[in-house]
Amino acid sequence: MASALADVQARIAKAADLNSRPLEDITLIVVSKNKPVSVAKALFDLGIRDFGENRDQEAKPKSVELTELTNGEEVTWHFIGQLQSNKVKSMLTYASSLHSLDRDSLLKELAKQLSSGERTLDVFIELNLTQDEGRGGIEPKNLLPFAEAVLAVPQLRLKGVMSVAPLEVDPNRAFEATWHASEQLKTVKPEAKYISAGMSHDFEAAIAHGATHLRIGSAITAFA
Ligand SMILES: *Cc1c(COP(=O)(O)O)cnc(C)c1O
Repeated sequence: MASALADVQARIAKAADLNSRPLEDITLIVVSKNKPVSVAKALFDLGIRDFGENRDQEAKPKSVELTELTNGEEVTWHFIGQLQSNKVKSMLTYASSLHSLDRDSLLKELAKQLSSGERTLDVFIELNLTQDEGRGGIEPKNLLPFAEAVLAVPQLRLKGVMSVAPLEVDPNRAFEATWHASEQLKTVKPEAKYISAGMSHDFEAAIAHGATHLRIGSAITAFA
């Protein structure tokens, strides 16, 4: 796995260079879903501090176990999958970033669960880039009104937009649309400038279109 990780990191550096982008503007989140905590620990030992998970039932115990294995060293858990509203409370116990804020009902539940406390949560608005309005995510045309609703919740720190390139389209087109959405979002909130995009098979295209947070799993963990 060490060489798979090094290979991905080298490809990220090359793509950043090709697109004249500073490498430090790009965060690699290693998606540890479907892998045991031993894999997360091995990644930690290789210097990884950002982990992505998409199921609360799996992420919560894994985060607790990793804390034990690393003597409480700080890591960042990014929740990247569709989140049921009844899992919000649990997710807030370990995640500091939610990449999949995709609907009003989830926003309402986040506002409710965070209202009583001091803590904040970083959030990315997930875009629906498919032609199917029934799919998860916010349609680009509804981005700004949804962003206003997010910004009205003081405990949420809106970081930017997130996308998964639909299988049926050229990832370059999907990431171009993501970049356009990001430009729109920055007109209402300049700090919300981050773009969570790019997975194992398309992260170079995402980097070319401004991705700042890559979510990469199998290219690294398939070799664990
Ligand atoms: C699983 C997953 C990833 C990582 O996918 P790979 O193809 O394994 O790199 C990224 N983003 C989301 C939302 C995922 O569910």
